[in-house]
Amino acid sequence: VSSVETLEFQAETRQLLRLVIHSIYSNKDIFLRELISNASDALDKLRLESLTDSSLAGIDTDDLHIALEVDADARTLTVRDNGVGMSRDDLVDLIGTIAKSGTAGLLEKIKESQDAATAENLIGQFGVGFYSAFMVADRVTVLTRRVGTESGTRWESDGEGTYELQAVDGLPVGTSVTLHLKPADSEDGLADYLSGSKIRQIVKQYSDFIRWPIRMAPEQAAAEGESAPEPETLNSMKALWARPRAEVAEEEYNEFYQQISHDWLAPAETIHMRAEGAFEYEALLFIPAQAPFDLFSRESRRGVQLYVKRVFIMDDCEALMPDYLRFVKGVVDAHDLSLNVSREILQHDRQIHGVRRRLVKKVLGALKDMQAKDTERYAKVWGEFGRALKEGLIEDTDNTKALLELVSAASTHDPEEPTTLRAYVERMKDGQDAIYYLTGETRAMVENSPHMEALTAKGYEVLILTDPVDEVWVDRVPDFDGHRLQSIAKGQVDLDGEADGDEAGDAEKAKREEEFAGLLPWLTDALSAHVKQVRLSSRLTTSAACIVGEAHDVTPTLEKMYRAMGQ
Ligand code: ADP
Ligand code: MG
Repeated sequence: VSSVETLEFQAETRQLLRLVIHSIYSNKDIFLRELISNASDALDKLRLESLTDSSLAGIDTDDLHIALEVDADARTLTVRDNGVGMSRDDLVDLIGTIAKSGTAGLLEKIKESQDAATAENLIGQFGVGFYSAFMVADRVTVLTRRVGTESGTRWESDGEGTYELQAVDGLPVGTSVTLHLKPADSEDGLADYLSGSKIRQIVKQYSDFIRWPIRMAPEQAAAEGESAPEPETLNSMKALWARPRAEVAEEEYNEFYQQISHDWLAPAETIHMRAEGAFEYEALLFIPAQAPFDLFSRESRRGVQLYVKRVFIMDDCEALMPDYLRFVKGVVDAHDLSLNVSREILQHDRQIHGVRRRLVKKVLGALKDMQAKDTERYAKVWGEFGRALKEGLIEDTDNTKALLELVSAASTHDPEEPTTLRAYVERMKDGQDAIYYLTGETRAMVENSPHMEALTAKGYEVLILTDPVDEVWVDRVPDFDGHRLQSIAKGQVDLDGEADGDEAGDAEKAKREEEFAGLLPWLTDALSAHVKQVRLSSRLTTSAACIVGEAHDVTPTLEKMYRAMGQ
């Protein structure tokens, strides 16, 4: 027998495990979804490797499946797969450490969170994966052998601080995860996970669309002389996206979404489409109801899953979704791609570009419909993803028009309700040709800015933009519906110019300029370290002076943002 090594979990893993064990999660049933999802991924990987790696061409992939086994006497539940398996180093890297970015920050937030619901919500966005096993088990044993290697490994832990590793001979390729179950405790949300009917219910609810059979051995052992009864397949395995839309219930869409996203909320929107013709594909996309915690982290997952004729190819296929729509989840099943297709090839494939264009249009169209039909739901979605969508105004000039229609911004028109640009334009005063805005850190700062005075006096509405990204997109967008976007803090806001030809006004201006002819150069000189020029203004009504940026200057908020990004 080979020796047992004891290793320590990485510090973040330990913290996460502690949170999981002390069960901030009220829905404990999802541990099975997580383990089945890992098993399913492992089967996908084996199938793909056997199709694309010639050294594995000989391996038998006819009976890839997931088996659930209950041992009532030992109080264990085992999830077994004959997928790719893990090597010793895989176990250390994949199970012993968390590679997800933003983990430390997330753990901090969870610790600070005041109530269980907030904590649960945060952890839900993060996804605990394999570790969720420790919600229901006080000990977990993994036996695994990586395909193409000779020897296997046994991993075991009580989830406290350390785990054991041991080399084991004679294991089949694949992985089994055995949970030594805690006693059922309804108060703690711990069901009897030895019960066949409970297992059946969880699989139906969370894993019905897994594309590999999930089998359970019959509870009754074979009577003497009879052949062993057939194991029961618990899931339907239907590829939901391949079914006609009319035949899929909303419930089914929602459950599918929850399976692929590991979210526990229903999606805010479902988009199901089929493209026929030269390049055939099916797409089933979802707009989540809530943003993941790492939406703005550089390493956040982006893109949808890519299948080729029902064969899973890759997660996070960036080529199918632009960055700013990284929150969209779902599946694209393309019929005419090679199974060997790489990320690199996809990035340069003309047809994939076409698919992407079409998907983007669909998603933006769905948002537009929601905005028109369900204002409240749209407001929530904008609250979650508006910042990401505004990045689209910078990145995706092909869709500027559609994106501008989606923008929702605070405005002086109504302190409670944000406005669309369309509604702003409809309220514009006679003679007003620009859409006025002011950026700043907070609504109060913007409202109290001296720049507001002249606009308020004229009764013009001003958009109040307080998101740092606002500075960037307003600069890139030439106009909305023929009306330019004009900062009231930059350049010459020529409010009087709109009443052009007003000779009395011009004369008045000339006279004032003469009056201050001595003062202005003197002030400019005296303040030269701080300002470029001092000039007369018609913008102010009660304040004596205000600072104005050049038309193409970087604004203070943007300056701060660039500095924060280290530029
Ligand atoms: P995720 O699935 O989101 O990557 P998990 O915590 O669920 O996170 O799993 C971590 C990693 O461990 C997986 O990415 C996979 O590489 C590996 N793993 C887990 N279970 C299995 C399994 N049954 N077979 C092969 N690898 C597995
Ligand atoms: Mg997983």
